Amino acid sequence: MHNPYKDAVTQLELVAKRLEFEYTDKKRFHKAVELLKQPEQFHEGSLEITLDSGKKQSFKAFRSQHNSARGPYKGGIRFHPGVTKEEVQALSLWMSWKTAAVNIPYGGAKGGIIVDPKKLSLAELEKLSRAYVRFLGTTVGPWIDVPAPDVNTTPQIMAWMVDEYELMMRESNTAQLQNPLASFTGKPLELGGSQGREEATGLGGVYVLEELAKKLGWKRKQDITIAIQGFGNVGYWFAYHAKAAGYKVVAVSDSKSGVFVPNGLDPEQTHANKQQTGKLASSASEQISNEALLELDVDVLVPAALENVITVETAPKIKAKTIIEMANGPTTPEADEILAVRGIRVIPDILANAGGVSTSYFEWVQNLAGYYWSKEEVLAKLQPLMIAAFEDIWSVYEQEKTTVRLAAYQVAVKRVIDALYLRGRV
Ligand code: GLU
Repeated sequence: MHNPYKDAVTQLELVAKRLEFEYTDKKRFHKAVELLKQPEQFHEGSLEITLDSGKKQSFKAFRSQHNSARGPYKGGIRFHPGVTKEEVQALSLWMSWKTAAVNIPYGGAKGGIIVDPKKLSLAELEKLSRAYVRFLGTTVGPWIDVPAPDVNTTPQIMAWMVDEYELMMRESNTAQLQNPLASFTGKPLELGGSQGREEATGLGGVYVLEELAKKLGWKRKQDITIAIQGFGNVGYWFAYHAKAAGYKVVAVSDSKSGVFVPNGLDPEQTHANKQQTGKLASSASEQISNEALLELDVDVLVPAALENVITVETAPKIKAKTIIEMANGPTTPEADEILAVRGIRVIPDILANAGGVSTSYFEWVQNLAGYYWSKEEVLAKLQPLMIAAFEDIWSVYEQEKTTVRLAAYQVAVKRVIDALYLRGRV
């Protein structure tokens, strides 16, 4: 079985080879790299809930707290039947690099429960969400680890989690020591959420696309075609903002269906089709499979679903010249080499999809201050943050004549190692 944690370690080793030259004490440097291969803490448990039928059922749950040198652990929680320990670990490494790549004061973490949330009722989902918080207990909190949504986890789920956390604090008489609202991000607006958080991941990706367009001298946006795999929160908002910015989104797909409209589609209409019929396409002639979407002759391909979709099998068939990774870890390291040889430029996940966690950071700041910003204020902070990260990475990319992924890793891993050094942890 494919092991994403191995991929994450392979990527770290690759970047370590390039970074090594910048550090005189090689022994110390290698100690830091070894440290970064493992999460600092790993929590694993089994959550038992009573189903609506009265039967009890257990679900495996994980939280991987990878690194806290730059600040509290930060990262989402996913509810998915395909969750594994190795996947959660890999995702926690990627979170450490992501928060460092955009230079926000956090480390990296990730959580997951092996569950198909579509098979649970709302009441069961609430019980499971609350049970997860009890399982984590005080290993999370505003200054320790700040979880957030990820695949299949919603603002409502964050609301239940933050509520359970607050109840737990009250039971132990420690609520006054904490600011429970700041313990989770991605919350509903009515409960301490931030304006702009919902669309932030997709929009952040479009900010990156716009910077790339400037660097590559793309003139006519309306001629730039985009295909997006995944039409959840991230894929939808990427499509929405890409179209609004003037690009031509020609195809999108979700786990069940896909749509291809060569002249450009309307993401809002496509979303409405899905709500009404369960299918993205409005007619049979517009349907396309997930596999065929990856192979479309478009300018930009955007994997926005799960990891491991661009593999040694699929990479040789990709015709797009640019890939913007809105999913976490969609490309395996072997596939990455194939893409590099074929001259396909990849804007890596840790930069492209960092708009979400960056707006989580703004949410946390607002919670801690108890002072809330308008959407304009949030976006006026998000855009320069994303552009600065893009510029930091692009200048290393040009200097080192490497891939954008290695450049991003170089910037990010260096920031984490430097924080480990400053703390004297190695
Ligand atoms: N799950 C998102 C990610 O992978 C957001 C994490 C967060 O907001 O903490 O970046």
